[in-house]
This record gives sequence, C-alpha cells and structure tokens, in this order.
Amino acid sequence: MSAKVVDGKLVSRELRARMKDRVGSLMLKDIKPGLAVILVGDDAASQVYVRNKIRACDSVGVNSTVKRLATDCSEKAVLNELIRLNNDPGINGILVQLPLPKHIDEHKILETIRPEKDVDGFHKVNVGAMVTGNATFYPCTPHGVMKLLDYYNVRIEGRHAVVIGRSNIVGKPMALMLLERGATVSICNSKTPDLSIFTRQADIVVTAVGKLNVLEGGMIKPGAAVIDVGINRLKNGSLAGDVDYESVRTVAGFVTPVPGGVGPMTITMLLENTIRSAEITNFRR
Ligand code: NAP
Repeated sequence: MSAKVVDGKLVSRELRARMKDRVGSLMLKDIKPGLAVILVGDDAASQVYVRNKIRACDSVGVNSTVKRLATDCSEKAVLNELIRLNNDPGINGILVQLPLPKHIDEHKILETIRPEKDVDGFHKVNVGAMVTGNATFYPCTPHGVMKLLDYYNVRIEGRHAVVIGRSNIVGKPMALMLLERGATVSICNSKTPDLSIFTRQADIVVTAVGKLNVLEGGMIKPGAAVIDVGINRLKNGSLAGDVDYESVRTVAGFVTPVPGGVGPMTITMLLENTIRSAEITNFRR
C-alpha cells in the first residue's frame, strides 16, 4: 500500500481563495481585517515565521503590522504595546510570536490580549470555551489538522486517535478537538513507555513532538491517517517532520509531508481567525 499524500498547500490555496471573497464582502462595508504581530528579539526561526504570516495576510487582503521589540525589552513594554493594540479598532487579531525571552512571563502576556482579538486561541477564556465545546477561535495548528482530515474525508467519529505530544499549543488542543468530534483519544508524551502500544491501535495518529523518527511504519496500523506536525531542521538545512516518512507511507492510508502538509494550514487558520474576528465585530456594529 502507498499512502495518499495530503497536500496542505492545495487545501490552503482553496481555503484562501474563499477567504478573499469574505474580505471583499467586509470591504464593501468599509472594514478591512487587520492583524498585529509582536515580535520580541531576533530569533531566526521566529523572523521567518512572522515574514510568512505577513505575506499570507497580503495574499488575501488582510492588513498587517509588525511591532518589533528588542530581546532585552521589559515585560512592561510588551504589555503596553498589547494594551494599545487591544484598543485599536483597526486591529482584529493580535499575535505574540513565541517563544518569548525568558524574563518575560508568557502566561501574563497571552492573558493580556483581549480574548476577542486572540486569533492564536491561546487565551484561557478561549481555551475554556474550546473545552466546553463553544470555541470562537481554535488554535491554528490543530484547527488546520482538522481541516485537512475533513478535506480528505477521514472519518473521525468513533475512531481511535492518538496524539503524541501534550503542549498547550498543539497536543492538548488537538486531542480536545478530536474528542469533540467523537474520536476516542489517547494522548502520549515523553514519559509514555512504549508509544507503539498506542499507535498500533490508532486510526489517526498526530505527532507533535519535534524529534526525528518518533513514528515508523512498523508502529502503525495499515491504512491509518498519519498527521505530522513536527518540524526538525536537518544538518543540510532542509526540514523534516517527526515521522519516518518513507516507512510510514508504505503502511498508512494518508500521510502529511514535511514541508507542505500541516505548515501551510497553520498560517491559513490564522487568516481564518483574523477574518472571523472582523466578521464578528461587523456583526456587533
Ligand atoms: P513542545 O512544547 O516541545 O512539546 C513537545 C511534546 O512532545 C511534549 O509534550 C513532550 O512530552 C513530547 N515528547 C517529547 N519527546 C517525546 C517522545 N520521545 N515520545 C513522545 N512524546 C514526546 O512542542 P510543540 O510546541 O507542541 O511543537 C511540537 C512540534 O511541532 C515541534 O517540532 C514544532 O516545531 C512543531 N510545530 C509545527 C507547527 C506547524 O505549523 N507545522 C506549529 C506548531 C508547532 P513532555 O510534555 O512529557 O515533555
């Protein structure tokens, strides 16, 4: 068997084409959705992620602005910037690029963003809404994974999904979203003694670890859907996921490549949340 390769670029393109129409409808009412990004420090990967987010905004007609702050800036400086953006009516979405320097309290920063502008879906109000099945903004990466599963008609209800990783931004919300859709969900982490005991039973496996070859072909059930969220930089500079792609693709039914799988969907879901925020604001006017 050779797995169907899930094309995140194709799905993103289709979703973004529809977003352009939604932005067009908002602009007829004099609303241009706006995203503000705060970038603290000069981490190379963060710079690339922010640049890609800004380009994506341009591609669908969303306004964007980046506030750059020095690595040694005070926590107060970030908080002040957030308060200014919270009160700016032209800004529908605020994103603080993570990770932040160690002297800045990430929880405090994320909880200062107004929940209505929290397009990353990390504020505890939005996390709580998701837990109770009433989310406004789903975190972008797991939201993108759900869109991919739906696009390829991968059944979720009644199936066993295994999520490897339990971070607040990927693993935990991923598990909750699968649970919400009726999957039976197992969540594994670095202390799980033998991952394969879980993954061999799974219809859907999502890896969100950040280590090479966490999942190999011999660890999965034939026909399983394998979603690789991980990003690992190889010595030659290229990117690879958590999954041993070559062995997994001979056993799985669906597999996401890295790059070109989940990555493009994450940014597309950021656009989705920003446009949605503008639509909600318009509805309230
Ligand atoms: P994270 O906060 O470092 O979490 C990694 C998780 O993996 C932790 O829960 C950890 O368990 C678990 N883990 C580590 N080693 C393990 C092992 N050998 N077996 C099982 N579980 C193990 O990372 P993250 O922010 O969730 O991101 C995960 C990966 O996804 C990274 O490579 C990141 O770059 C990538 N990512 C990609 C996108 C995208 O758009 N494609 C978006 C976000 C993140 P413990 O909790 O027990 O330590």
